[in-house]
Amino acid sequence: MKHRKTPRWVSAALAKPGEAPFPLPPAEGGIEQFPEHVPWGVPIFQMSNWWLTVNCICGEKQVPLRLLAARIGWRITLREVVPFLRCATCRERPSNVQLVDNPTGDNGRFGAKTKRLQLRP
Ligand SMILES: [Zn+2]
Repeated sequence: MKHRKTPRWVSAALAKPGEAPFPLPPAEGGIEQFPEHVPWGVPIFQMSNWWLTVNCICGEKQVPLRLLAARIGWRITLREVVPFLRCATCRERPSNVQLVDNPTGDNGRFGAKTKRLQLRP
């Protein structure tokens, strides 16, 4: 496990929009309550309304988990994907990864703040 090469699909998932081998999970029907603790073992399709905020030297990227599920599979968990995330531009592992409920802070509830959980480092 430690010396396994980064699966190509993980960097591809962060790279370009384009062909997705899986259908998009429904936008509705995911877990509604943003958790207090990182849901490492939950399949990402159940978090289809949340995002990953990923930082590397190239800047910050917002990765919708719904799109990630369409690229790499609905049943992948954060535990499986986060350690293998790699920027397609600089090829580095991200310095910072967060699970967020909505990166813009505009989630329809007036005054509601973006909720975040630290995934990496
Ligand atoms: Zn980068």
